[in-house]
Amino acid sequence: MRKQLIVIGAGPGGYVAAFTAADLGLNVTLIDDGQNPGGVCLYRGCIPSKALLHIARIIEESREAKELGVEFGEPRIDLDRVREFKSQVVSKLTGGLGQLAKQRKIEFIQGRAKFLSSNSVEVQKADGSKETLEFDHAILATGSLPITLPFAPRSERVLDSTSALELRNIPGRLLVIGGGYIGLELGTVYRALGSEVSVVEMTPSLLPGADKDLALTLSKRLQGQFKSIKLNTKVTAISETPNAVSVSFEDKNGQVLTEEFDKVLIAIGRKNVYDGLGLDNTKIQFSDDKKFIKVNAQRQTTDPSIYAIGDIAGQPMLAHKASAEGKVAAEAIAGHKAGFDVKAIPAVVFTDPEIAWCGITEAEAKDKGLNVTVSKFPWAASGRAVTLNR
Ligand code: FAD
Repeated sequence: MRKQLIVIGAGPGGYVAAFTAADLGLNVTLIDDGQNPGGVCLYRGCIPSKALLHIARIIEESREAKELGVEFGEPRIDLDRVREFKSQVVSKLTGGLGQLAKQRKIEFIQGRAKFLSSNSVEVQKADGSKETLEFDHAILATGSLPITLPFAPRSERVLDSTSALELRNIPGRLLVIGGGYIGLELGTVYRALGSEVSVVEMTPSLLPGADKDLALTLSKRLQGQFKSIKLNTKVTAISETPNAVSVSFEDKNGQVLTEEFDKVLIAIGRKNVYDGLGLDNTKIQFSDDKKFIKVNAQRQTTDPSIYAIGDIAGQPMLAHKASAEGKVAAEAIAGHKAGFDVKAIPAVVFTDPEIAWCGITEAEAKDKGLNVTVSKFPWAASGRAVTLNR
């Protein structure tokens, strides 16, 4: 049977597109390799990291309560139960999405899809069978994968965000490579659970791209919590020793230093992987740097029957941006007037303190020659902040 719409990838882009299209009366098939919709965000990204950050906050607040005259003992961490809590959060939310898909009569296929042409895909199903589906329209929402360092050994001691979230154990000494939000959030979790955390970042500040005043406030607090934060420093080698990982650093003056850690978390960004999607069988084209799929305001690719949304369709790689694009693509396919025409996309870093921004930064505004006014409000003058002892 020819499908009206197939959606490949059921992350926050794909499931929102599928739900919107079904609500608009289209007959929808949603394909993902997970047991339920959710994608990277729900299974191994935003949601498990936020569940663990909640635990980190409880631990931190219980320690800080001492200053307010309430003393708890040292927390005893039952890692099995921590993992169980995180898994329950994930299954509750992904199971809920599965129900919502059913209610909308969306056909959910667990498997991996590959384009055979501009109007057909082959699905390798989780049960081992294969099926070819023809479609009028497809939305590609296959997301991204963590980038690794080419010289990093394959080892239990070398983590990416996915394996770090599995929380197999709490290493004594953890090095986080990359001072972006994923590295800092996971570093915060491991530090609260007992690791001594060090961070290394190639650029001159943490959270490159964020407003410097915000990054600095976070940086100051993290300096008191993490063992060290090395900026302007590159990791040049990682090797496994019998009981640790040895890491070489090079600072901006070319000085080389080698240190040992129990585990290393590589959090240097995410990239789109096109292998196995059969894009050569379509008319899809890529951005000049090949990092993203080229799309127009409706998120339609250069192949008119195929749309692309989420991480695969451009920066910022954030869940709510994927969802907003999913809604636009579904509406456009259903014949509505819709376009992804945003002025500003909010971003939040769930560290402690949490920081958030929206739109361009002061530095970007200055680069563009815009008139800039800076307004600051000190938290010390906020009654709410003071009552929180912050
Ligand atoms: P994804 O969520 O990446 O889902 C894509 C799905 O497609 C996956 O299930 C994948 O297995 C499946 N797939 C791939 N290929 C195929 C195929 N051939 N056939 C079928 N299925 C396929 N963003 C935020 O906004 N806030 C946060 O707090 C946040 N925290 C994060 C924390 C971590 C640790 C990580 C790693 C990411 C975080 N993100 C966060 C980013 C967010 O997860 C992504 O931007 C978002 O998931 C992108 O959504 P997507 O729809 O493009 O696809």
